[in-house]
Amino acid sequence: MRLDVVTVFPDYLAPLRLALPGRAIDRGILDLAVHDLRAWARDVHKSVDDTPFGGGPGMVMRPTVWGDALDDLVRPAVDESGERPLLIVPTPAGRPFTQTDAHRYARRGHLLFACGRYEGIDQRVIDEASTRMDVEEVSIGDYVLIGGEVAVLVIAEAVVRLLPGVLGNQRSHEEDSFSDGLLEGPSYTRPEVWRDRPVPEVLRSGNHAKIARWRRDESLRRTARRRPDLLDGADLRPADLDILDS
Ligand code: SAM
Repeated sequence: MRLDVVTVFPDYLAPLRLALPGRAIDRGILDLAVHDLRAWARDVHKSVDDTPFGGGPGMVMRPTVWGDALDDLVRPAVDESGERPLLIVPTPAGRPFTQTDAHRYARRGHLLFACGRYEGIDQRVIDEASTRMDVEEVSIGDYVLIGGEVAVLVIAEAVVRLLPGVLGNQRSHEEDSFSDGLLEGPSYTRPEVWRDRPVPEVLRSGNHAKIARWRRDESLRRTARRRPDLLDGADLRPADLDILDS
């Protein structure tokens, strides 16, 4: 996968070269390039923002600078596989980013992230980009960050760990929270008893069918308690309904 990030703070993206994403780069699974937006600024001050039309506080990122950056990074508009790049624009005004999106993005060949700052990017950049690439405006939650860089770290990390060959054990993400529409239940490791708290008996029983049922039940109970909204979209079996009713 090719992953381009355009930002006015390239150093913010340094963690993408650590741990699992870093290993993905070393193994050639991920081709990461972080670009300084100011490289496309046209004036001596390398400014990338201007005052908003209509008045109001803050500054807006200029379409001229962003337009040139996208032109250079998305050339040709379609890669050898015939696929258009996907431009991801983090914004609190976007659709909520979910694990389903992470899976969808992980199947793409080229992701391009545009990090906003100040009051965000001139909307015409997004509208014009939509005519020649796929574009998604996504939010990582109902709160406002200072810039898009942290949102890119979140989204990129969620996507990169799904790329084949990145996780040592492919099953770990198949059993993660959200993979079956539910939250994952609790996990335990040694010692068997810690500060008078034993690990649940069933997990030490060696009975795989019973362990699977217990995990499913815990997952259902936790989801019902913390995120009941997820149950509507979950793939529930008849035995699950008894747990939810109890
Ligand atoms: N004026 C914008 C609004 O109210 O929608 C907020 C702009 S915010 C201060 C600056 C940048 O931070 C945004 O352009 C976006 O890139 C990023 N950002 C802030 N909160 C975010 C969130 N919850 N999800 C994704 N990106 C976010």
